[in-house]
Amino acid sequence: MYPMITEESFRDEAVAFLEANATPRSEEKFVWGEGSDKVALFDEKARETEQRQLEEAKAWRAKRFDAGLGWISGPEEYGGRGLPASYDRLYSSLEARYEVPNQSFFGIGLGMVAPTILAHAAEETRARYLPGMYRGDIVGCQLFSEPGAGSDLASLQARAERDGDEWRVTGQKVWTSGAQYSDIGEVICRTDADLPKHKGLTGFVVDMHAPGVEVRPLRQMTGGA
Ligand SMILES: Cc1cc2nc3c(=O)[nH]c(=O)nc-3n(C[C@H](O)[C@H](O)[C@H](O)COP(=O)(O)OP(=O)(O)OC[C@H]3O[C@@H](n4cnc5c(N)ncnc54)[C@H](O)[C@@H]3O)c2cc1C
Repeated sequence: MYPMITEESFRDEAVAFLEANATPRSEEKFVWGEGSDKVALFDEKARETEQRQLEEAKAWRAKRFDAGLGWISGPEEYGGRGLPASYDRLYSSLEARYEVPNQSFFGIGLGMVAPTILAHAAEETRARYLPGMYRGDIVGCQLFSEPGAGSDLASLQARAERDGDEWRVTGQKVWTSGAQYSDIGEVICRTDADLPKHKGLTGFVVDMHAPGVEVRPLRQMTGGA
């Protein structure tokens, strides 16, 4: 168990870690009319570039996690540090002053999937996925939208049926950000078709590398996929 630590001591610890492992960001002077005009939400990078950046991002998360800075406000039983959320914000504000690998690969997994697992999943599922997700070993994506279910998510058709001790998932999802480099996906399926459409839905964690999971690029009007 980690000892409780004051914000001041935590700040010293975080700065020492960042000084030892990252380069301070140089101050860029902002000038109107100069610099990049890029406004794209998602980078459209070559697969090799994406793979290299993913490896760098994972290495940085692992370093943070192993130093006790990977999941600062998370429960200790799942690899967290058990500190208040304000320490998380403090660390983020400090890390923003340093050049660190692009962490956007973890945006959906740590921003949405992991908190959902923590709040709603069975104990076994939490223990199985959460430490690896926060260490960067497991990247997660969200498998909600379908060709016929977007804003009206309750129209979804993907279904999960009991098959002995397991569940068999059948269906098609679309718009899955980061599916091509994700290890797990949080998939919402219909588990009881007899109920009204806003009921009978269940969330599962699927292995994105399992046989039967096919990930295909979705070409966008900007040319990227
Ligand atoms: C870049 C990007 C990344 C995404 N990433 C993910 C992801 O990781 N995982 C995932 O599951 N999904 C993802 N999505 C899907 C996204 O959440 C859906 O696009 C969204 O749910 C809307 O669904 P739709 O595109 O089918 O549009 P529709 O639901 O068909 O809506 C089309 C238009 O009709 C309007 N509309 C719909 N219903 C009504 C209504 N009742 N009244 C008035 N207007 C209405 C909408 O506002 C919209 O303008 C992503 C989408 C984008 C663009």
